[in-house]
Amino acid sequence: MLELRPNCEFCDKDLPPTSGEARICSYECTYCAECVEIVLQNVCPTCGGGFEPRPIRPQQAYRKTKELGLKHHPAVAKRTHSTYSKEEIASFVEAIKDIAPNKR
Ligand SMILES: [Zn+2]
Ligand SMILES: [Zn+2]
Repeated sequence: MLELRPNCEFCDKDLPPTSGEARICSYECTYCAECVEIVLQNVCPTCGGGFEPRPIRPQQAYRKTKELGLKHHPAVAKRTHSTYSKEEIASFVEAIKDIAPNKR
């Protein structure tokens, strides 16, 4: 199940489950759309992969036989922050950004 992290791991902006600004890599590293576009240039500082919009989890369970939705699987509370410095991220991004995500 996708981990809904509560903040941008670079600028710490709040990214609640209903946010249309959350972006994730395949490992669920989570950043805001602005950081992905301007700072990260679609390069995850951890894995080097690209980002996609994070899907919105429905608030409620729509199937009576399945306990799904935010009520049953809420967002995680613990905030995450990238362990890399701005300088480390900048040089990492510079080296990879011109390779399309599906060629990395
Ligand atoms: Zn951000
Ligand atoms: Zn990643």
